[in-house]
Amino acid sequence: MLKVTAVHPDSIAAELGLQEGTQLLTVNGRELEDFLDWEFLTAEEEILLHVRQPDGEEIEYDIERPLGEPIGVSLEPARIRRCANRCDFCFVDGLPDGLRDVLYIRDDDYRLSFRYGNFATLTNLKPHDVDRIIEYRLSPLYVSVHATDPVVRRYLLRNPTAPDILPQLRQFADHGIDFHTQIVMSPGVNDGPVLRQTLDELYAFGPAILGCSVVPVGLTEYSKHHLVREPTEAECRAAIEVIDERSATARRERGRHWAYGADELYLRAGVELPPAEIYDDFEQVENGVGSVRWLQRRQNPDGGWGETCDSYIRPELAAAGASGPSQTAWALLGLLAAGVTSEPAVERGVQYLLATQRADGGWDDPLWNGTGFPRVFYLKYHLYATYFPLWALGVYRRARRK
Ligand code: SF4
Repeated sequence: MLKVTAVHPDSIAAELGLQEGTQLLTVNGRELEDFLDWEFLTAEEEILLHVRQPDGEEIEYDIERPLGEPIGVSLEPARIRRCANRCDFCFVDGLPDGLRDVLYIRDDDYRLSFRYGNFATLTNLKPHDVDRIIEYRLSPLYVSVHATDPVVRRYLLRNPTAPDILPQLRQFADHGIDFHTQIVMSPGVNDGPVLRQTLDELYAFGPAILGCSVVPVGLTEYSKHHLVREPTEAECRAAIEVIDERSATARRERGRHWAYGADELYLRAGVELPPAEIYDDFEQVENGVGSVRWLQRRQNPDGGWGETCDSYIRPELAAAGASGPSQTAWALLGLLAAGVTSEPAVERGVQYLLATQRADGGWDDPLWNGTGFPRVFYLKYHLYATYFPLWALGVYRRARRK
């Protein structure tokens, strides 16, 4: 059963009389477990929907609608699937105490992997989950492999029952499912020969593995430093060499670079970031892989960056749109955080802000720059256009002084 949290105005759901609190029981006789069932089972033009209204009345609707027209409901968020591992480098261990509860959730959820590109280890799958992945053909999935050697992988995940990843991936690949993969590189454990072996075996797996990124382990002052450490400059350089070799072969044989280093790997190595072309279609940009080059590519000719709320519906519109002060400041802050202080993109972004600053020190921002309730309504935070540009210019100035 799924609960409706909002009904979109002028939608099919509004016309039917669904309301906040309506329970969605079945679609075409199948029980609804989560948003995946809802999205896949309601994808047909004709559906039989069985609901329980907040007053207890049960109703069955025979719905016919144009293909692609959404029913128009927001659903109660799915309960996130928890992780079965205890990696020494876990980002949750790297948090201080006293933050919001949700920040401590160790998520490992194949549904979020499919929907949002979250990386999952697939170590907590039950037979029912395997069946769903195959039935709904959840592809591509984003998978944290870390090492193809099962012993090393179990050590890294601190999970003695983690299944052997290659046969697991094969089971899905045989049903047409593809994967983006990542290796979180923990020095002394899965770098060196293990890294080479993992990249070789993932590449040999075949085209179902669309690519593999290598991300250096990232720790904070709260992490388990007695168990894990960050890679040195030399270790990062050695990893880049392995990636470059694999990438050169992949480019020749498959027309893709396939193996990617995270931006962080280059920054730690003290090696210049590679050109944008090596990231193929920037499929792992949200994993910090090619983020700097992606931002640079999205810069407008006037030196600014822009984005509209349409990118919630069409992700390809991310960082695309007329320049605005808030978005330009965010892009600059991103580049500066990555240590990019003197590239032309930064200079042009700074010049855009300086050129558009009003005499009173503020900026005009015509864009709706707040998230609000995506797809339902959006908010505008008027002071964003003041403090983010000031913040970005301040960080730029400090960085240039160093
Ligand atoms: S897989 Fe590892 S890093 Fe990810 S949530 Fe679980 S313990 Fe943390």
